[in-house]
Amino acid sequence: IDWDDPEDPIRLQVLPRGAELDVDSRESTDPIGDLAHSPVPRLTHRYPDRALLYPTYQCAVYCRHCFRKESLNDGNRGFSARALEPALAYVAAHPELREIILTGGDPLLLADREVRWIRERLEAIPHLRLLRVHTRIPVVLPSRVTAGLVEALEGSRMVVVVTHFNHPREITAEAEEACRRLRKAGFVLLNQSVLLRGVNDDTDTLEELFRELVYRLGARPYYLHHCDLTPGLTHFRTTIDAGMAIMRELRGRLSGVCQPTYVLDLPGGHGKVPLGPNWVEGREAHRWLFADWNGETHPYEEVVPETR
Ligand SMILES: *Cc1c(COP(=O)(O)O)cnc(C)c1O
Ligand code: SF4
Repeated sequence: IDWDDPEDPIRLQVLPRGAELDVDSRESTDPIGDLAHSPVPRLTHRYPDRALLYPTYQCAVYCRHCFRKESLNDGNRGFSARALEPALAYVAAHPELREIILTGGDPLLLADREVRWIRERLEAIPHLRLLRVHTRIPVVLPSRVTAGLVEALEGSRMVVVVTHFNHPREITAEAEEACRRLRKAGFVLLNQSVLLRGVNDDTDTLEELFRELVYRLGARPYYLHHCDLTPGLTHFRTTIDAGMAIMRELRGRLSGVCQPTYVLDLPGGHGKVPLGPNWVEGREAHRWLFADWNGETHPYEEVVPETR
């Protein structure tokens, strides 16, 4: 944090502001409807093939923009093997589950032996193919990414680590070292960011962020999240139009490898919707009009068996 700058983008993410006391009645403590899809404690099962598992509700840093902030900060909700048994039994009993997403809280705040215990318990479930770890540790506590932690995660299943960088200044030499360790173990690195007013809601900042995530960290931008309807976050939100305009500009400035999908998580637990931008300017049957990355419009006619 640059302490001389009251609008410093890292400060805005971690220090509370008075504006958070302005709660809109349309905001909710369960903004994306996780409760409706939690059949047992510490698990959310919304999509058929993947579920969220919460090994702890504690984090290394408490982000002001967190959509799950209402369930964090409770000292009684750290890791405990007993608390996770119902969720593990649920996963074992649902063969349609192929991916488990460790989230929270921050799963990498656990001790190495706890991470290993979870990984081994999940590996004993034959239908699970992939382990995902959603974590802010490489950003806010990169020294936690030790050889022991990497070893605890390494096993028989594919591991995807999804980080949470929101601003290019968060990409430090220490973060680079942490990501190198994870990549060397063969883990796939992805990143999700949240679009935040005053932090990263301009094309130059996001262009630098998404490019440097790939070029310095080897972490592919996965999602850019529209800010959820969490209580007190009105001041952080941009319009969807503004987000789509930034995404349209980025298409012309960044390689495809560096492009995330801009998504909205629907309230009520209905899942994520990609928000475009929309490149279709018009259509009539099989004749389309598309915008290109320069903003020019071009016709395109489909040639497929039924149009001959
Ligand atoms: C976001 C989310 C996922 C993961 O969705 P992907 O599109 O696969 O990244 C899974 N379960 C829940 C409940 C989610 O909110
Ligand atoms: S690290 Fe993740 S779960 Fe924890 S406060 Fe930040 S956004 Fe929320």
